[in-house]
Amino acid sequence: MIRSLSFAIFLFVHLFAGALDFDVVVVGTSPISLLEALYQHHTGKKVLILEAASECGGAWKSISVCGVKHADLGCHQLGSDTRMIRFLKETVGCEIIAMDHPDKPPIPSNLGVNGFYFVNGCYEMIRNIEKMIRQTDMVLLLNHPLESVYIDPLEPQAIVSTRGLRYSTRKVIVTPCSEIKLENHPTLPLDRQTTSKGKYYHLYMLIQDATAPRFSYLTGRGEGVSRMMNLTHFVDLDNSGNQLIVLQLHGERYFNDAHKYMDHLKKQQLIEETATLIQAESHIYEQPYYNQSLVTQMPNGLQVFELLQTGAIASMGSYISKWEQAIAPLTE
Ligand SMILES: Cc1cc2nc3c(=O)[nH]c(=O)nc-3n(C[C@H](O)[C@H](O)[C@H](O)COP(=O)(O)OP(=O)(O)OC[C@H]3O[C@@H](n4cnc5c(N)ncnc54)[C@H](O)[C@@H]3O)c2cc1C
Repeated sequence: MIRSLSFAIFLFVHLFAGALDFDVVVVGTSPISLLEALYQHHTGKKVLILEAASECGGAWKSISVCGVKHADLGCHQLGSDTRMIRFLKETVGCEIIAMDHPDKPPIPSNLGVNGFYFVNGCYEMIRNIEKMIRQTDMVLLLNHPLESVYIDPLEPQAIVSTRGLRYSTRKVIVTPCSEIKLENHPTLPLDRQTTSKGKYYHLYMLIQDATAPRFSYLTGRGEGVSRMMNLTHFVDLDNSGNQLIVLQLHGERYFNDAHKYMDHLKKQQLIEETATLIQAESHIYEQPYYNQSLVTQMPNGLQVFELLQTGAIASMGSYISKWEQAIAPLTE
């Protein structure tokens, strides 16, 4: 009784008696979310970004693995959209090369599919966008999952909750991979709003091989392998005598097969015959799915929630025109 009374007072204070805390709350920090947050800020909005993880990037974040810092989480490719590449270079300040680097020895990869990539891996893109955000007065809260949303049934506005804090806002910007729960859903209480999650399995192998990397990005090539990437160039291990290779696998059951994959790579001449495994480490990335049907069942749900299209990094293409006009290029 006391709890519901204090919640009613809280609602009154937040929704009906004063200014909103934020115009926009962005959920998640993959590149498209962060760039949209920058766009919203440059159009004069007061923006809060909530990220459940301890670092920015979503599926494009980098991790420390096998003793190597800033390694890409899994296998990535940017594709060849020249407009996006120009935007990433000129506005986000990324150094970009063809996946099959002209200055390196020939790399047999599926050229044409791979297109371009970041010289310093995806770490460079996220670090630069984060730097742009830190230059503004936007609020970015890491380790702060959006836990629930109360949608005002009378006005298109809401209250978001994160780690005991509650903020009112006019808009909640999500992606297909934002986990959301609604406090005042008419039929499903919070504890029955479950979120399904996709899992992505990665096996990193640090190997001793002083020859030049022989591939950058390949699909398939071995039982249980969906794709693989030689990260050596992108984590600055060139000329170290070692190489860092990551395999995206079909399941956890392949995590103990590093020696088998070494043999397989040797057979395909993708690493030197004498190469040895120094260390293998696994990493699983979990991606939640946004439950749009919860939102559509709520009065004002579709006015409060805005869904970004983020299925692939190339989805950026449809946002670049508006971003270009608003986002100031990164200046050192
Ligand atoms: C391993 C992997 C590799 C990929 N490689 C490529 C590639 O090479 N090329 C390509 O074009 N696309 C690739 N993709 C597709 C990728 O999903 C998109 O490029 C893009 O990252 C999707 O962005 P997103 O924000 O929807 O999801 P994500 O990148 O997964 O980011 C979601 C973010 O939201 C946060 N989040 C979720 N719910 C909440 C909450 N309730 N509160 C706070 N934070 C929350 C998560 O912690 C996460 O940081 C890859 C995906 C994966 C999983």
